[in-house]
Amino acid sequence: MINDNLLRIRERIVRASKGCGRDNDPITIVAVSKGRSVREIREAVDAGIFDIGENRVQEALLKYKQLSTDNCQLSAIKWHMVGHLQTNKVKDAVRIFDLIHSVDSLRLAEAIDKEAAGAGKLQDILIEVKTSAEAEKYGVAPEAAGQLLREACGFKNIRVCGLMTIAPLLDSPEKTRPYFRKLRQLRDRIYDLRITDYGLRVLSMGMSDDFEVAIEEGATMVRLGRAIFS
Ligand SMILES: *Cc1c(COP(=O)(O)O)cnc(C)c1O
Repeated sequence: MINDNLLRIRERIVRASKGCGRDNDPITIVAVSKGRSVREIREAVDAGIFDIGENRVQEALLKYKQLSTDNCQLSAIKWHMVGHLQTNKVKDAVRIFDLIHSVDSLRLAEAIDKEAAGAGKLQDILIEVKTSAEAEKYGVAPEAAGQLLREACGFKNIRVCGLMTIAPLLDSPEKTRPYFRKLRQLRDRIYDLRITDYGLRVLSMGMSDDFEVAIEEGATMVRLGRAIFS
């Protein structure tokens, strides 16, 4: 079933990319496996997924350990932290995650840099931006994103690769478009400031209900849970 889901998803991604003239842009599918079993993750990997997303460090650590075998496909998995990260979990997070999508404060960036330095690692991160006004959500305000990026780029053991956002839950995918567009425009504006050499290529946006709209607005990484696993 996961295999069939992925076939359909890939078709939809190709169609959406062609429709907006992005046929040559690579778009990474991050399979968000929170609440799913290790068996389901293996199935996704067998179907050609190499990027696995989790939103809790504890759960990710458990699965990471179970999947750390000498199987070369499994060892090629890139682990993504897509959920809110507490500073007391940073040590474990730096140990297992290839990309942390949810950096939204200087304090968190500082903690990540410190642990990464201790581990001799250059930690890839994204800055999470709050593109909608929902009070309960994490993410830095768009107006403050440039400043946080500037500060994060000052740390030696962090590499800022781009921006991430979570669109609000709305009753039609089309309604999420303004939030995705806002993130891309913000990225372009910040990029023009030449704060970093890395290009801020990554735009992590779009989930099961709205990934096609996100691609039309420039997503390079879509985070899919239900569309893959159910
Ligand atoms: C769960 C989750 C996803 C995937 O959501 P679906 O709607 O199941 O595709 C994506 N991003 C984050 C941050 C999540 O927590």
